[in-house]
Amino acid sequence: TKCIAVITSGGDAQGMNAAVRAAVRMAIYNDARVFAVHEGYQGLVEGEDFIKEMTWSNFLIVLILKGGTIIGTARCQEFRAKEGRIKAAKNLVGRGISNLMVIGGDGSLTGANLFRREWTELLTILIERGEIPENSLIEYPVLNIVGLVGSIDNDFCGTKMTIGADSALHRILECANAIITTASSHRRTFVLEVMGRRCGYLALISGLAIGADWIFIPEVPPEDGWEERMCAQLKAARNVGNRLNIIVLAEGAVDIHGNAITAEQVKQILVKYAQQDTRITVLGHVQRGGSPSAFDRILGCRMGAEAVLSLLESTVDTTPFVIGLQGNDMIRVPLMECVEKTRNLAKAMDEHNFEAALDLRNFGNTLSIFKGCNYYS
Ligand code: ADP
Repeated sequence: TKCIAVITSGGDAQGMNAAVRAAVRMAIYNDARVFAVHEGYQGLVEGEDFIKEMTWSNFLIVLILKGGTIIGTARCQEFRAKEGRIKAAKNLVGRGISNLMVIGGDGSLTGANLFRREWTELLTILIERGEIPENSLIEYPVLNIVGLVGSIDNDFCGTKMTIGADSALHRILECANAIITTASSHRRTFVLEVMGRRCGYLALISGLAIGADWIFIPEVPPEDGWEERMCAQLKAARNVGNRLNIIVLAEGAVDIHGNAITAEQVKQILVKYAQQDTRITVLGHVQRGGSPSAFDRILGCRMGAEAVLSLLESTVDTTPFVIGLQGNDMIRVPLMECVEKTRNLAKAMDEHNFEAALDLRNFGNTLSIFKGCNYYS
């Protein structure tokens, strides 16, 4: 019988519970045993009660409604050091587990891949120390891993959507609806700051869905003179009868020189040059909270199920995969290729190499809509 451990690590995202639940049930349905690791890699290092075998009824249906991750997540320094990973390997071998499904961001997946690469070395050390049986390497020659990406930012290369991004969008729209009624009553302008330090997905898509007057995303910084163009566009909207203006700003927005554009700065410009009564709302962690959307629940289910199937099919030679969404299909993509692309994208953003970043990001035609909607002429 194959034994699979499921772990959620890094930042939480709505839909992770659906993924864990589907993984647990798909594993049991296929006669595998499945364990939930609590509190991310910390639980893997600690062992004991942090690693619990799951049954069919462990994940009651009501848990699908919940955001976050009920098995907990954590950042874990110990797992970054080899001694921590030795403990983790011991805890897995002790339970007969050599299959690991990780739901997290690129950090968590990099950690999983390193753990897999070191497996033989870690087990050899444990055998030498007499902490696991001599035949452990014969019984567990490889650690099979599979990754799922949970991230509200949708900032991972290899899947069209990450688990949690759609729910975050819903949350932003709910907040925007609330703001729009008060903004309209007072004829105000609102600068809505949404998450996305290096990724403008949430700002771009929510901005289009709201019908925002102006959108700032880090990948497409506005050209010099944007202050005048933005003011002209907002004033023009008022002149044709709009009672409010909405600007959506990603937290990592920059200008073409790479200087940060902050909500406060945008507000000052609007007050001074457009004489608009302007307020700022920073959405922050509400974007991570609350119930997952239908899309994220189903995405989590499909990814969790596919991840378990890929583990059940894997052999000693299988390369590790990330489960991605392409079109309406679940696909298996080489994990390290995705992590590397994602890293390159982050690097391009840090170096303000916007062209390279956009190439990797692939916003599709939403980008031309962004330009058409953003720049008044
Ligand atoms: P995310 O998975 O959301 O990118 P982090 O980068 O914080 O979040 O990673 C989550 C955890 O994964 C870390 O706390 C650490 O335990 C583990 N991890 C991340 N990077 C590595 C690495 N290079 N080697 C080993 N473990 C890592």
